[in-house]
Amino acid sequence: SLSNRLKIVADYLPEGANFADIGSDHAYLPAYVCQRDQTARAIAGEVNQGPLDSAKKTIQFHQLEEQIDARLGNGLAILKEYEVKQIVIAGMGGALITSILENKTTIAKSAERIIAQPNVDAREVRKWFDHNGFILIAEEIVDEQGHIYEILVADRNVNVSSPYSDDEQKKRKQLLLGPYLIKEKNAAFIKKWTQEKTNLERIISQMQQAKQINHEKISDFQIELHWIKEELY
Ligand code: SAM
Repeated sequence: SLSNRLKIVADYLPEGANFADIGSDHAYLPAYVCQRDQTARAIAGEVNQGPLDSAKKTIQFHQLEEQIDARLGNGLAILKEYEVKQIVIAGMGGALITSILENKTTIAKSAERIIAQPNVDAREVRKWFDHNGFILIAEEIVDEQGHIYEILVADRNVNVSSPYSDDEQKKRKQLLLGPYLIKEKNAAFIKKWTQEKTNLERIISQMQQAKQINHEKISDFQIELHWIKEELY
């Protein structure tokens, strides 16, 4: 059955979704959604032939050819403007997700909703949304077999206000930790930031012992460490 993190992604697609799943691999997400909703339509995008073949196999196996189209290509280049209403990019690093959005901003901005599931560097995705007219409307953090995943949902043209503080420092902290996740502070959040705290402490002490000391970088990390500690204690 579908992984928990992808089930959460599916929960944020409306009935009758018309979406693209970029980096779809086996097309498990589009198959799951389209099996449960005959009115849903999906485009499974893949930059690599192997995963694209896997996607096609899944689509054939479930006889979903009428609902899911598998396309080979880089990121959003497989889409026309306004071709889909929702874009999903899951299971990659935040920097890669951001570069996929940034490479084709007009196509990205023609979607009503973007659902991202960055494995790392969620901050990069939050920043991209914030700089490109998408309002973060929901976030989830889940612990799945020891791995912690974040799911970010952002909408355009919605009548909701930004979740970020007007205070620049507070906003920087929210971009790192997640404005909704900080408030909820569930067990997965505590686990993730407890691990990150240990990592940061190790990195800072290594940087302090280096021959060329990068004071600016160390001070950035110390500020992040301070934000994390504020939320853990
Ligand atoms: N989205 C699925 C999930 O969350 O389980 C699969 C994640 S898999 C780790 C990442 C997939 O993204 C790979 O199949 C890879 O080929 C694809 N990919 C990486 N960069 C891509 C790009 N620029 N455009 C389209 N697909 C890409």
